[in-house]
Amino acid sequence: MLNRLDPVVDTNIIPLEQALNTILADAVTSPIDVPSFANSAMDGYALRAEDVQDGVGLQLVGTSLAGHPFGGKVKAGECVRIMTGAALPLGADTVVMQENCHSEHNVVTPRGPVTAGQHVRHPAEDLAQGERVFEAGARVNARMLSVLSSLGLEQLSVYRPLRVALLSTGDELRAPGELLAPGDIYDSNRIGVQAMLGRLGMEVLDYGIIPDDPALIRQAFLKAAIEADAIITSGGVSVGDADYTKQVLEEVGHIGFWKLAIKPGKPFAFGHVGDCAFFGLPGNPVSAAVTFHLLVRPALARLAGERLAPTLTLQARALMPFKKAPGRMDFQRAFARVLPDGGLGVVSAGSQSSAVFSAMAEANCLLHLEQDRGNVAEGETVTLELIDGLYW
Ligand code: AMP
Ligand code: MG
Repeated sequence: MLNRLDPVVDTNIIPLEQALNTILADAVTSPIDVPSFANSAMDGYALRAEDVQDGVGLQLVGTSLAGHPFGGKVKAGECVRIMTGAALPLGADTVVMQENCHSEHNVVTPRGPVTAGQHVRHPAEDLAQGERVFEAGARVNARMLSVLSSLGLEQLSVYRPLRVALLSTGDELRAPGELLAPGDIYDSNRIGVQAMLGRLGMEVLDYGIIPDDPALIRQAFLKAAIEADAIITSGGVSVGDADYTKQVLEEVGHIGFWKLAIKPGKPFAFGHVGDCAFFGLPGNPVSAAVTFHLLVRPALARLAGERLAPTLTLQARALMPFKKAPGRMDFQRAFARVLPDGGLGVVSAGSQSSAVFSAMAEANCLLHLEQDRGNVAEGETVTLELIDGLYW
């Protein structure tokens, strides 16, 4: 999939305040040294290390506050009252914290050992002018915003948000609020996927619920090809009599692949309608959410110009047996917790049926159970990926 997708190249210049969750289109280099001047890491006294001798007092000659530097120079036998973040006065090279000084009648006597240069923050200690701070493709988060702001940057060049068309297929689907006729169910995939797309900063074109009618499905696909970078469907990709999604994709676009050796999510389909990337999620809600996370999220990242870090996986002890048949890689919904010995343990989050969504909402992790693995016995080590607090 990644090899068949090219990033959207359009970029926008936006103010920093609007940059949260956008993708950097250019690397960011620091225009200044941070910090730009030597300053104190403590509240105390700035002095010359060479002047410190047991029991010898130094003459207090002034004050350096944050934003109000001391204008003079610290000469032999002198010191300056200094606060955290205040500029280190000329002449001084060391700060002694106030708790370690005796001060009386403008004479300050340091107590205890003093190391030359202590409690001084040096220019460019954090970032040097011209240093690369963030790479293109990084998704801007709150921590990065603070760093960008510390560089004095007002604007950023970011990729434009992806436009993603979204629809659910199925004659049985009703929107919440509608009455259910016999055999009907509520559409739960669309709102979940829409929420995930929203958390990823993407623009959703909501095509709603499309009946199992090839003509209507075709119409929606062709519309997406004109107005969207990607289209995500759910349902209709199995081998049932009313599964038209794949068939219509073959007619108006082309299929990259269909069916994967994973559980849940076997009938997942990928392809293109014109230049629009196509992702066919299975209808079962758990399969739809899991395949979105495992497959669609990295593919959309590629389209959006985002460079994803490799998924961080952890090893945990199975606190109960897990049923698993060899043949497909299995992403079971589970709950991990720290054990009294400090290790990580994991239990099932409930039913592993791909039609049971409630266990999915309970889970805080996905097990990654290897393709060839069989049943997992209690006490065995398993690999997992934490999902709590992520975009889904
Ligand atoms: P399908 O792939 O269309 O055969 O759907 C597989 C199962 O998922 C069926 O039980 C569908 O009723 C159900 N399903 C399909 N789409 C949705 C949806 N949007 N929300 C909830 N369940 C769905
Ligand atoms: Mg269906």
